[in-house]
Amino acid sequence: MKLTFLGATGTVTGSRYLVEHGRRRVLVDCGLFQGLKQLRLRNWAPLPVDPASIDAVVLTHAHIDHSGYLPRLVEQGFRGMIHATQATTELCGLLLPDSGHLQEEEAAYANRHGTSRHQPALPLYTEARARATLPLFRSHRFGETVEALPGLFVRWREAGHILGAASVHLQTEAGSVLFSGDLGRSDDLLMKPPAPPEAADLVVVESTYGNRLHERSNPLTALAEVVNRTAARGGHVIVPAFAVGRAQLLLLALRRLKDSQQIPDVPVFLDSPMATDATALYRRHPGQHRLDEAGCADLWRGVRFVNGVEESRGLASLRYPAVIISASGMATGGRVVHHIEAFAPVPANTLLFVGYQAMGTRGAALVGGARSVRVHGRWVPVRAEVATIEGLSSHADRDELLAWLGALPTPPRHVYVTHGEPESADCLRQAIEEQLKWPASVPEYQHGVDVAAMEEGAAGSSRSAGKVADIV
Ligand SMILES: [Zn+2]
Repeated sequence: MKLTFLGATGTVTGSRYLVEHGRRRVLVDCGLFQGLKQLRLRNWAPLPVDPASIDAVVLTHAHIDHSGYLPRLVEQGFRGMIHATQATTELCGLLLPDSGHLQEEEAAYANRHGTSRHQPALPLYTEARARATLPLFRSHRFGETVEALPGLFVRWREAGHILGAASVHLQTEAGSVLFSGDLGRSDDLLMKPPAPPEAADLVVVESTYGNRLHERSNPLTALAEVVNRTAARGGHVIVPAFAVGRAQLLLLALRRLKDSQQIPDVPVFLDSPMATDATALYRRHPGQHRLDEAGCADLWRGVRFVNGVEESRGLASLRYPAVIISASGMATGGRVVHHIEAFAPVPANTLLFVGYQAMGTRGAALVGGARSVRVHGRWVPVRAEVATIEGLSSHADRDELLAWLGALPTPPRHVYVTHGEPESADCLRQAIEEQLKWPASVPEYQHGVDVAAMEEGAAGSSRSAGKVADIV
């Protein structure tokens, strides 16, 4: 069995791992690259392996940086099945068409205003292409073992990151690999903690916050402070939030703060039709999160749902303090970009970031202190306050990642640290070696590992016993 890293190396985006077993090929996650241009260009470049030769895809969760390349894969000849948990399948049914729609809108905007160097600007894929991908999905339950390909068994365990998010365990006669997927927090308001990991020969672990510890103080207190001081200035709080996961957490957090009168009853606008639809899905999957029926209903209470584009644009002329939650989470696209254009120049407002901002995104520039950002081909001055609350993140921090690994029933042969920017990944690698005393490394793009060679090594070949053979 061979494992090749086709993404999420040196970056948090573009998760794609190729597993080859005999003549069969399975792709674990099929994400879009986001952020830096040299990464985004990989979405347009041919995949290093022929999509038609891939027999199946297995997803850890629905976020676009894990699923958003699927329509391209299908367009280029992939005809296998896409295996995922039930909630991930349902969420992909919302996220993928939306992703196609956004790309069509962006291409159309660029063509209307001449803001792209490409004539004409084209979408990476269309909404119709994304919809054509959906019939290939096959849904499975957490804990169920599925023979995705002959002799290749897959199992999903709760990862606590968003609805449906899983760690994926892959087993063949030649060995096993555990993919952490994106791991959630131990004490998230909305999601339950990740399930303990299953033993495997190799572990591939994410490292988004591999070099950081989330503040242990209550993030709700920090949120209340942001809302209160912005409202006191007569301003608006604009929150770019991932439509799935963070948007729902924010609704919950704001509800709790209002109920305990820690913030005034300011209007809360959820300006993302997809986030609205995703919120409804939490109701369909009780048991996967901490909310009961009444808690789910509470998410909606007092929230104003913005549907049409005109209504969304109309928010720019609001005369009273409000909170506006809108996608995308890294301000790379979607309606929140218009809100940044309208609200960033006004000092009374706050742009609040609650999720990870990948290098090269507009969100990362704002969090980094940029005094102007480029929106729709022109520079917009940033005079609003820019605030970050990391404690509301949906990703485990360094100690939580180490605790999850430490719960493995037996030490793995090797840990591969991915899904982190270089400093983060290397910091977690060091911590694994020092604290857990396991061999760990940070793979490069297209790096390949022969899992079966471990057996040769153990049997006394020229390779040192138990060592994984790196073949690329
Ligand atoms: Zn994710």
